Amino acid sequence: MEILENLKREPVIAYLSMEIALFNDIPTYSGGLGVLAGDTVRSAADLSLPFVAVTLVSRKGYFRQEITPEGWQVEHPMEWDVEKILTPLPQKVTVAIEGRKVTVGAWVYFWRSFIGSIVPVIFLDTDLPENNPEDRTITDFLYGGDRRYRLKQEIVLGVGGARMLKALGFEVRKYHINEGHAALITLELLRQSPQFDPEFVRARCVFTTHTPVEAGHDKFAYDLVREVLEELVPFPLLQKYGGEDHLNMTLLALNLSGYVNGVARRHSEVSRHMFPGYAIHSITNGVHSFAWTSESFRALFDRYIPGWAYEPSFLSRADIIPDEEIWRAHQEEKRKLLQFVKEKTGVEMDENVLTIGFARRMTAYKRPLFIFSDLARLRRIKRKGPFQMIFAGKAHPQDWEGKRCIQEIIRLSRELAADIKIAFLENYDLDIAKKMVAGVDVWLNTPMRPLEASGTSGMKAAHNGVLHFSVLDGWWIEGHVEGVTGWSIGPESEAGKTPQELLEEEVDDFYNKLEYLIIPLYYTQKDHWRQLMKNAIGKVAPYFNAHRMMRRYVTEAYFHQPLLVNHLVQEETAS
Ligand SMILES: *Cc1c(COP(=O)(O)O)cnc(C)c1O
Repeated sequence: MEILENLKREPVIAYLSMEIALFNDIPTYSGGLGVLAGDTVRSAADLSLPFVAVTLVSRKGYFRQEITPEGWQVEHPMEWDVEKILTPLPQKVTVAIEGRKVTVGAWVYFWRSFIGSIVPVIFLDTDLPENNPEDRTITDFLYGGDRRYRLKQEIVLGVGGARMLKALGFEVRKYHINEGHAALITLELLRQSPQFDPEFVRARCVFTTHTPVEAGHDKFAYDLVREVLEELVPFPLLQKYGGEDHLNMTLLALNLSGYVNGVARRHSEVSRHMFPGYAIHSITNGVHSFAWTSESFRALFDRYIPGWAYEPSFLSRADIIPDEEIWRAHQEEKRKLLQFVKEKTGVEMDENVLTIGFARRMTAYKRPLFIFSDLARLRRIKRKGPFQMIFAGKAHPQDWEGKRCIQEIIRLSRELAADIKIAFLENYDLDIAKKMVAGVDVWLNTPMRPLEASGTSGMKAAHNGVLHFSVLDGWWIEGHVEGVTGWSIGPESEAGKTPQELLEEEVDDFYNKLEYLIIPLYYTQKDHWRQLMKNAIGKVAPYFNAHRMMRRYVTEAYFHQPLLVNHLVQEETAS
């Protein structure tokens, strides 16, 4: 294939990720991790980096979400047109799983940048006639099945991924392991190295961790590992790098990567405490500016800030856009969203009413019910100044608490219907995300800190002049200037507070700011509000974008000199 041959002319960065969100018709993503991977591919292409991405084909997707009349989430497989959308590749490799030979095939999608550069995205697939029926299903469901199924998927991604890149003839400068799921690639490289030389592997691997909690790290019992995974390296060596008692994918990647980073400054600090002794750098996430800017704002930026899509730092000039035009573009996106909400849910909302958006994976630590902490207060605030709310989000099929949160939002939307209009949009995906982050007035984010490694949806909102109202966690610690780029919820530091005290402060601060600051500002100080919208664009988007993020990966991770960078981290840690 000619395109691939052209792309093999120089050593590539090979980016391995369990999920990559390119567009809606390839539903192989579950949330922020996949969207970040998609934005990484988009920016790598725009910047003409020698880059190839590897993921699983996940033929049945993550799932399609249906909400029953009782408010319960039901999951449906989301089969997609693999054959129509992707191009088959002739190469095949094998991996050993449970002592069997499993054949792994590949498909490619050529992601094309508007400047003409291409990043190939390789989708690994075990659904081949040479495999037994069970093995054919390994690459069906993203994050489906049990621990055994997950381990098999990670073997296909890490070991199969390394072998496929080799079979395709890529010379790889660095393997970028996006979260622990792909960490088994380190064992395959260790196996290939002279005398199991860890420095050989470290010189080739970059690892980005995304998980700020110990319980969130991917771990496998060694009994299971011995049954499923072939002996790529002698067992004592596996234990040395992957952990005494369990195979911990984060630890494995940490031990065998020459450069490691967290996805926001705070997250890197938390990770350094969790894994003392490791040099964990920090490259804060960003979103792909063009992809996440709505039609109306693209037109505005094209007119006033030409070149912004290639160089999003130009968006710092947002102040030159006239207020009325910012407002007109925003109201247009808002009308589109409210029309969509009406079609999908029947809820009719008013474009002149302050609209709050909340959408992300529905899981306990994101606290989707936070805004409902005090219903009486919520009703009282509404009587002083109206507001309406739009929610969306999927819960992992096995996350019962997440599902109960959805059910509770639906129940409350009915209970409060006479006072506050609340809509829940089914089946959150890239397209709905894009409508929501541009069409609401305020983007709400209420995670339990420090559990939000970065978060990215607030960055998308900022690109569209939508104001972020968020707990000080993840990227918002870096992006927030109180009352200028948006608003915080709760104290600056949680130090010395019990969880209960912290929660009370956060809830109180949230309601106070909503009642005394945000609502009055929206209805009575329109000029000020528009200035804030321009601040969000001009002070958040220029930095929190994926072009800046990728330029940092290039200069600090892909081409770094280890000694220099480690020295930097020591200084960062000391200060
Ligand atoms: C951006 C995005 C996310 C991540 O949202 P967070 O607020 O960072 O958790 C999840 N899902 C979709 C579809 C997205 O577009």
